[in-house]
Amino acid sequence: MFILKIGGSTGINYDLIADDIAALVQTGEKMVVVHGGSALTNEVAEKLGHPPQFVTSVSGFTSRRTDRRTLEIFEMVYCGQMNKGLVEKLQSRGVNAVGLSGLDGRLWEGKRKDAIKIIENGRRRVLRDDFTGKVERVNTDLLNLLLSAGYVPVITPPAISYEGEAINVDGDRASAATAIALGADTLVILSNVPGLLENFPNESTLIRHIPAQSLDKFMAVAQDRMKKKVMGAQEALAGGLTRIIFADGRVENPVRRALNGEGTVIE
Ligand code: ADP
Repeated sequence: MFILKIGGSTGINYDLIADDIAALVQTGEKMVVVHGGSALTNEVAEKLGHPPQFVTSVSGFTSRRTDRRTLEIFEMVYCGQMNKGLVEKLQSRGVNAVGLSGLDGRLWEGKRKDAIKIIENGRRRVLRDDFTGKVERVNTDLLNLLLSAGYVPVITPPAISYEGEAINVDGDRASAATAIALGADTLVILSNVPGLLENFPNESTLIRHIPAQSLDKFMAVAQDRMKKKVMGAQEALAGGLTRIIFADGRVENPVRRALNGEGTVIE
């Protein structure tokens, strides 16, 4: 059993990924799929006249500014087209996928951040009306129910706050939390890059192997959105996973290639 996180950036080939999942499921492999949807959300938000905004926290992490309207658009895309689109691709390949958001059955529960400290034009500011948080509890009963009945769960943000509000959470970190909760040993994170690049965007500078104990040093190599993946990997390792693989979601057999060690293997 492993966790497969599929990113939401441009270029990721969902058909090739679905083909590969179907092939793996046929061999009896069990998995939980987590996906993103950032690129399409940005596009739809522009069209709906509520362009995306990104904020940088004081610790240097970038995240989507999620006011109420953004949350609604986010749900349209993540829970709508992205989730159902992926479920359809899997179902048409004979995989009995069940799409769920973190809200459903309180699958991903966490604290809504009451204040976010950001840096804006070089100055510190506090945001209070943001619907964001972090997954702290995973409803493993629900996931195990589905897994034991032969379904492939396909999970998407948002998560749910302890008060029952939808909260935007980082998909990479949520997939790490899911892997830890299920006691999985492997987490595969597919994106539109071959893995962690020493010199982004030069793909020939792929870092192939990172020993767990030296992952800290690589936080500096990752910029903007890649930082969350490294942080997710750190959390996954701390939670008992033995292997996290950042791999290319644009190629043929992307999942099997990743499982065979193509990409950045952290172990
Ligand atoms: P996804 O939506 O697929 O999860 P993100 O867009 O959140 O992926 O993160 C992947 C992006 O991180 C890449 O497309 C790239 O622009 C960026 N990035 C920043 N630094 C690096 C790096 N050192 N190596 C690889 N990608 C990097």
